[in-house]
Amino acid sequence: MRTGQISVQSENIFPIIKKFLYTDQEIFIRELVSNAVDATKKLKTLSRAGEFGDDINDAKITIALDEKEKTLTISDSGIGMTEAEVEKYITQLAFSGAREFAEMWKDKDPEQMIGHFGLGFYSAFMVSKKVAIETKSFQNDSEAVHWDCDGATSYNIGKGNRAQRGTDVILYMTDEDFETYGSKWKVRELLRKYCRFMPIAIEFDGEQINNINPIWTKKPADLEQEDYKKFFEELYPMQEAPLFHIHINTDYPFNLTGVLYFPKVNEAIDNRNNRVQLYCNQVFVTEDVKDVLPEYLVLLKGVIDSPDIPLNVSRSALQSDSNVKKITQHISKKVSDKLNELFNENREDFQSKWEYLDLFVKYGMVADEKFADRTKDICMLKTTDEKLYTIQEWIDHAKINQTDKNDETVVLYSTDTAAQHMNIIAAKDKGYEVIVLNGPLDTHFAGWVESKFEKVKFKCVDGGPVDQLIEKDIKIEHTLTEDQRKSLEDSVKGLVNELAFEIKVEALSPNDEFISIHRNEWERRMEDMQRMGGGFPMGDLGLKKQTLVVNGNHPFANKAMNLNATEQKDLLEYCMDIAMLQRGQLQGEALERFVKKAKSYIA
Ligand code: ADP
Repeated sequence: MRTGQISVQSENIFPIIKKFLYTDQEIFIRELVSNAVDATKKLKTLSRAGEFGDDINDAKITIALDEKEKTLTISDSGIGMTEAEVEKYITQLAFSGAREFAEMWKDKDPEQMIGHFGLGFYSAFMVSKKVAIETKSFQNDSEAVHWDCDGATSYNIGKGNRAQRGTDVILYMTDEDFETYGSKWKVRELLRKYCRFMPIAIEFDGEQINNINPIWTKKPADLEQEDYKKFFEELYPMQEAPLFHIHINTDYPFNLTGVLYFPKVNEAIDNRNNRVQLYCNQVFVTEDVKDVLPEYLVLLKGVIDSPDIPLNVSRSALQSDSNVKKITQHISKKVSDKLNELFNENREDFQSKWEYLDLFVKYGMVADEKFADRTKDICMLKTTDEKLYTIQEWIDHAKINQTDKNDETVVLYSTDTAAQHMNIIAAKDKGYEVIVLNGPLDTHFAGWVESKFEKVKFKCVDGGPVDQLIEKDIKIEHTLTEDQRKSLEDSVKGLVNELAFEIKVEALSPNDEFISIHRNEWERRMEDMQRMGGGFPMGDLGLKKQTLVVNGNHPFANKAMNLNATEQKDLLEYCMDIAMLQRGQLQGEALERFVKKAKSYIA
């Protein structure tokens, strides 16, 4: 046995590595097991090339825990290493890799790194006070080699005692690390997380941990629906079945495989857990793929596997990486193709799933111009009568009745069919139809449609009296004189908080409401954008200034003119309360007053 010096300037990198990756130390298991997988795969390649004759079909990797010695051993029967190779690969290459890693990330935020890739063999030192290797090269007559290092800058190397080809990496854990990682369930948990789909059998505690041929490595032609279903259940036990899947299998101009599932997306978009998992050659990288995929694609579930996604770069570098961009576009295209296919093959079925697709499609449309182009013809609008139309169909339909005097087609929408029930009824009475836009992205979506389709305006059905939402070329004359209107306006002003309402006396049809309250379309959208985290803060929005429209042509307006002051106040107050009630805003003393009055009518 001889002792060597790891060529290092002054500083010991292990403490840096250990400290740096404190929260994600557990990746050591992935790094070491994937080295064992690589060593086994290399031997398989040699065997296929006829350079290695032994039968290696049942080659497996074994993980063993020794609770007495406080060691964890990763053993493979792969190519192994000669003494010269240990010197070269472990003390020089692996070490310089680790040093580079430490230098690159020393002053940076560890969170900035995806899956903490790139550390390799030396990640073993994150959880060990000493690491030993017992290895024997596959080459004939090679000698077994022992290597160990206690994390300082010197190591021992010499004759080892392994009888068969392959490598054992033995981690001697500190008491503290063994406390964390030294239980069977913890080891199994980590193996299940990081090594679940690695391509060589991994055995722990007499049990095979992994599925070496996961579905995404197979050809779609060789798979049945049932296989996709089973795989989903394997990934997400106890979860509601997905709507459909997409199998991705590309090797040019980048390598990308995967199976993506379309879940029933109807939950809050903030729930992004348990979604797409990213693998690199069947090695788990992360389930936090928001830097790889655009946000709307993160709503999908399943697996993508690509060796072409750079993993040892920062998250920001990742987003601007050209391969990542291409991969993302590819996935986005696959998804939109699938949606179109489903729509064209069986529209009825597609429509029956729309409630789950709605949020996803709109999210994609407002976020990604190309996705929008590819899905705009299958994006559905739902009327308050539950009928579904594509955007173009709806515009063509609405054009007939709902085009205003400026030749703009007005798409009336409701954000809350229960609260806006009276407004919907008022619109229907005029022969108009209303669509439901109650999703969190619908304000953005409405803006998108307006920007893409000429002469189309979206207006919320409670944004004003219907005849003002869709203005026709019909002028209604005032039946009240100007003085009467002024006096009516002043009387109403006396009853309400003028800061909260803008009061207008208008000439509407005598059949329209006498007093009605409306929310300006623009303000509604701004407020909605603000709630979604976009837009800019607007101080006075807190007041929610609304428009109070008094229909000067309503019979009550005329009646009010002929009442004495007390009677007039009574009438206006009551009508005002009814308007507030319709808006769901009748509260406190006004509510009490209204209820008393309503009861008095029964008595
Ligand atoms: P990487 O795997 O990224 O090359 P590592 O630091 O993990 O970096 O490993 C350095 C090298 O050590 C590997 O490239 C390989 O040649 C060798 N090595 C590590 N583990 C094993 C093993 N179990 N069997 C054979 N060679 C190994």
